[in-house]
Amino acid sequence: AGLPRRIHEVTADHVAGAPGQIALVEDGAAWSYRDLDRRVTEIAAVLSSLGVRAGDRMIIVSENCISLAALLLAASRLDAWAIVANPRLSARELDQIRDHSGARRMFFASKVSKEAAAHAARLGAENRHLGALQDIGVGPLNESATAEPVEADPARQVAVLIYTSGTTGTPKGVMLSHDNLLISAKTTAYFRKMDRSDKIYLVLPISHIVGISLLIMTLMVGGTVRMVSKYDPAETAKAIAEEGVTILNGVPATYQRLLEYKSVSGLRQLSPGSLRLIAVAGAPLDLDLKSRVEKEFGLPLLNGYGITECSPGISGVRFDAPCADQAVGTLLPGVEGRIRTIDGIPISQGEIGELHVRGRNVMCGYHRAPELTAKVIDSEGWFNTGDLARFDGDCLYIVGRTKEMIIRSGFNVYPAEVEAVLSSHKDVVQCAVVGRPADGNEEIVAFVQLLQGSRVTSADLMGFIRFQLTSYKRPSEIIVLDALPATSTGKILKHKLAGSLRGEAPLAQIAP
Ligand code: ATP
Repeated sequence: AGLPRRIHEVTADHVAGAPGQIALVEDGAAWSYRDLDRRVTEIAAVLSSLGVRAGDRMIIVSENCISLAALLLAASRLDAWAIVANPRLSARELDQIRDHSGARRMFFASKVSKEAAAHAARLGAENRHLGALQDIGVGPLNESATAEPVEADPARQVAVLIYTSGTTGTPKGVMLSHDNLLISAKTTAYFRKMDRSDKIYLVLPISHIVGISLLIMTLMVGGTVRMVSKYDPAETAKAIAEEGVTILNGVPATYQRLLEYKSVSGLRQLSPGSLRLIAVAGAPLDLDLKSRVEKEFGLPLLNGYGITECSPGISGVRFDAPCADQAVGTLLPGVEGRIRTIDGIPISQGEIGELHVRGRNVMCGYHRAPELTAKVIDSEGWFNTGDLARFDGDCLYIVGRTKEMIIRSGFNVYPAEVEAVLSSHKDVVQCAVVGRPADGNEEIVAFVQLLQGSRVTSADLMGFIRFQLTSYKRPSEIIVLDALPATSTGKILKHKLAGSLRGEAPLAQIAP
């Protein structure tokens, strides 16, 4: 079947064919497909009366909840661009997004988040009812905000503007069209054999590309989205055991914390309940974690690889065809991939280089940054992911990021390889390896977080890796910290760690 033109249209078939089926659930509320359709129409009318026009940017500051999904779909009805902002952003970060995007209005789902309520108060929002939505903070109208031109083909209109979490430094506004999001959601749902009997436990924030894609793909197949406003491993374990959840999708840290919860709570086993699929994406997956999770639930942990600029789907492990443990699966249907040297020269099959991809899932560009866009997308539509990868047959392997590669005495060192070895130590909770400039060369420095109460020292860890890594790959220093700075999806902020080595901010200030 063909794709709908805009993201809110994914519900149309289910409104007609299964109107009573539950689309969205949160604590204390459940909306059927019929409810969702009617209410979104109503909310769109209210937004329009509040001055939101086609081509306007509107910011929704919210944790995962039904209100957020409804506002997002209502924005789609109006051809407005939605920006979903994580309430845990600092005032400075949120203001940066507001100013860079030139947003017309900001909305705050304050009921489920005290951080969203605090931003709403700070920015002079008023509490209003928007159709079926109660108590939404509505910010003042920005009269000077201009609308972007509207595309003749609605599928090419920008649906969402996503500011990347900036693990490598500068936040960028990624413009994703309806078609970008729909094709990525459709191919991923196909790899997972999703249908209307699926109920997804949505712990990944909708402010992040993976969260928004999961929301769209579940509505597309007519399934049920269980909204989770704040990840709590104890509640997650309980919901999986009792609520008929069939899909859990996380980042590695989601699973790491579930296992930690299991060990402190003294449970013998986490109940898989009705789970049929567990998936992970967003960051390198530690193999030890993978095997522990698989043992726990008795299911393969399916890895998937993507990037905000690709909406995010690039590759995934198919539900019916698991592949090698370290692989991130095969390219999704319609996505082309090729490997090039850092200078853009073709290299032979199987060698490591930068991964370029092309397909309908590749973004429209970075908002208000055409030069930056031209740097990553060439004239033939190839997008440079900035990730180092290799193919083995059809299977894709991610080796690290170009920006993070360390060149030590002329040898390439991929931090992920060193991290994998350190992580295999039983007392290491997480670690991050970065380069430190030293006399025209680069040294390797590892930051490590240990299990609480562990007596392991850096010297012990040096001894542990000695026999597993050749000398040029071994860190010159291993620094033990209480916690590592991370994004809301648990990705370690390496540029902060590297910055601390260059004396930019003391370590004591960057740890969360
Ligand atoms: P910025 O681009 O500003 O640094 P970010 O790193 O948070 O922000 P995302 O789009 O959220 O940007 O993350 C995409 C990156 O995450 C990929 O380029 C890749 O390095 C990494 N990644 C995603 N999935 C996987 C995976 N399954 N295995 C290994 N790495 C992954």
